[in-house]
Amino acid sequence: MMDDLLVIGGGIVGLASALEWTSRFPDDRVTLLEKEPRVGRHQTGHNSGVLHSGIYYRPGSLKARTCVEGAARMLEFCRTHQIPHQVCGKVVVAAREDERPGLQRLYERGLANGVAGLALIGPERLRELEPNARGVAALHVPGAGLVDYGTVAETMARLLEARGVQLRRATRVRRLMRREGAWLAQTTAGDYRAGTLIVCGGLHADRLSGAVPATRRVQIVPFRGEYYDVVPQRRDLVRGMVYPVPDPAVPFLGVHLTRTIAGGLHAGPNAVLALKREGYKKTDIDAQDLLQMVRYSGWWKMAARYWRTGLEEAWRSWSKRAFVRALQRLVPAIQASDLVPGSSGVRAQAVGQDGRLLDDFDLLQGERAVFVRNVPSPAATACLSIARAIVDSLVSDTFQSGKSV
Ligand SMILES: Cc1cc2nc3c(=O)[nH]c(=O)nc-3n(C[C@H](O)[C@H](O)[C@H](O)COP(=O)(O)OP(=O)(O)OC[C@H]3O[C@@H](n4cnc5c(N)ncnc54)[C@H](O)[C@@H]3O)c2cc1C
Repeated sequence: MMDDLLVIGGGIVGLASALEWTSRFPDDRVTLLEKEPRVGRHQTGHNSGVLHSGIYYRPGSLKARTCVEGAARMLEFCRTHQIPHQVCGKVVVAAREDERPGLQRLYERGLANGVAGLALIGPERLRELEPNARGVAALHVPGAGLVDYGTVAETMARLLEARGVQLRRATRVRRLMRREGAWLAQTTAGDYRAGTLIVCGGLHADRLSGAVPATRRVQIVPFRGEYYDVVPQRRDLVRGMVYPVPDPAVPFLGVHLTRTIAGGLHAGPNAVLALKREGYKKTDIDAQDLLQMVRYSGWWKMAARYWRTGLEEAWRSWSKRAFVRALQRLVPAIQASDLVPGSSGVRAQAVGQDGRLLDDFDLLQGERAVFVRNVPSPAATACLSIARAIVDSLVSDTFQSGKSV
């Protein structure tokens, strides 16, 4: 039988999209296909667990719009479903005088994006908030928080099943195509047909979006983020979250210290080019992934553009001393002996043919379909509002195949 909606990908964006659709069209037949035996196994279950507030993103961008609204909706979702969360606030620290303009820029962006409670503070107030942090100035973001997105994804899956959605786990989509006015998904567990399609394939987003011609071509490049855990007796070094002023040339935030919802403290993540899309270990290599990367002209242009940053990140991945030095710029008291290797995650970062890392979210429209091609951080925070944007675009009159939302 044909479904009204087929969703590919049981990460937080796919799950949120199915929730949004079933809230609007409760009588529709909906199926969600996930290749893993459980939902939330990739980016959704391997991230920093931060509820972002919206200070980093260009005003008017999809990231800015969905992050600010999405953070409020995520908090509401956690409260309603009793998911552990905490609004602990964070500080972004300018360690040196030359980082002040970058801090000012974040402050202005935050104000333009409507982030509440922001304050530029001096060293004394910084010490009151985070006694071990040092800097010439800082930005206090009181609304930032912690959320366990893995639990959010499991909760969404339960809600969907209660609404009658078919969640097909361990079902990998091999091919997507248009057939007789509908979408056909060929999978490892048979064929599925639907009138409307939403594709949220994370690290495989570009492969799945090949079914529709796009005006702008992109390819996913995986960037691993590695963490260290701070040993229990030193967890009081940080009360909430301590971040550096980020490099505006790349969409990563720089290694930071973050409390976890379980009471731990972790440091990271860095951003190292991975040689496998689901490569959680330094030694993971996949020949097909690698070949696809080096065959893409955008990859070579990216390498030429960002080689210096890339080498620095690779060095910091292998040298614990370099990693610790980056943290000591924010919290001088931290020592190498305070850190033990922790988990890692892999970011799905879309790269354009010009070699640029796509800064904003990218939702490509196809015939009665949306292909989510670039939803890196803060997409866990923003997922409920990204889902709203996806469904809005599918029901809108201005829907245009081949264009990004
Ligand atoms: C290290 C790291 C730190 C981060 N920190 C934060 C943070 O603190 N706050 C924040 O808001 N965001 C953060 N993010 C970003 C956030 O985790 C992601 O943006 C978000 O999880 C993306 O969700 P998704 O559903 O698009 O992708 P995913 O969670 O990767 O889900 C995609 C799903 O599609 C499935 N899939 C792929 N191909 C197929 C196929 N062929 N057939 C069937 N299923 C398929 C996959 O198995 C996967 O489950 C971080 C990300 C990383 C990696």
